[in-house]
Amino acid sequence: MLSPDELERYRRQIIIPGFGEEGQEKLKNARILLVGAGGLGSPGAIYLAAAGVGTIRIVDSDTVSLGNLNRQILHWSRDIGRNKIESAAEKLKEINPEIKVETTKVRLTDENVREIAAGYDLIVDAVDNLPTRYLLNRTSMALKLPLFHGAVYGFQGQAMTILPGQTPCLMCLYRGASPRGTVPVLGATPAVIASIQTTEVIKYLTGLGQLLTNRLLIYDGLNMRFQELKISRDPACKHCGDNRQT
Ligand SMILES: [Zn+2]
Repeated sequence: MLSPDELERYRRQIIIPGFGEEGQEKLKNARILLVGAGGLGSPGAIYLAAAGVGTIRIVDSDTVSLGNLNRQILHWSRDIGRNKIESAAEKLKEINPEIKVETTKVRLTDENVREIAAGYDLIVDAVDNLPTRYLLNRTSMALKLPLFHGAVYGFQGQAMTILPGQTPCLMCLYRGASPRGTVPVLGATPAVIASIQTTEVIKYLTGLGQLLTNRLLIYDGLNMRFQELKISRDPACKHCGDNRQT
């Protein structure tokens, strides 16, 4: 049941055709795992919290530095040196005291990831490196949790939604080498991609619309174009194929 305050707080989305109080209750009951409280995780967490997703567990092992502040908008100048999860939880509780924010300060590894992800409804990929993305991808397959992928580089970004056992996964999509060095990012780029991920999460939880599955959405901010690539499942994929090693 939604309280009078919740009905008022979420009124403008509840009146979206098809959304209704029922959709809002689905968000309230949802438990999601958001991995990364940085460039993608900041706007992602803000919109997920403001929308009333009931439980958000944020995983990040970093502290806030000056060089984060052009894009990691949950963290402010006064937060430099703090744990990102603490800084994030404080802001999210002010944005929406109705929701529960859980925090885990840890670097995800093969050893700890399944225990951390167990009991959640889905995983949001808001990380900044390929090895951790592959780890989330394998975890998504092993625990059958949908994975909402996003990534950014400079003015460019991409997003895809992965439903384990049904749609292509990250390993079907990309098997190249990890990019090396510092990734350039304009702060507005992860805001675009995180908004797409959040829209996908809310659609998945409420059952509305068509998900961004079987296709990669590519955003080119420099020329202001969106493009879609059709992605097929690879039967030989090491993560989701017939011979998977999860
Ligand atoms: Zn695959």
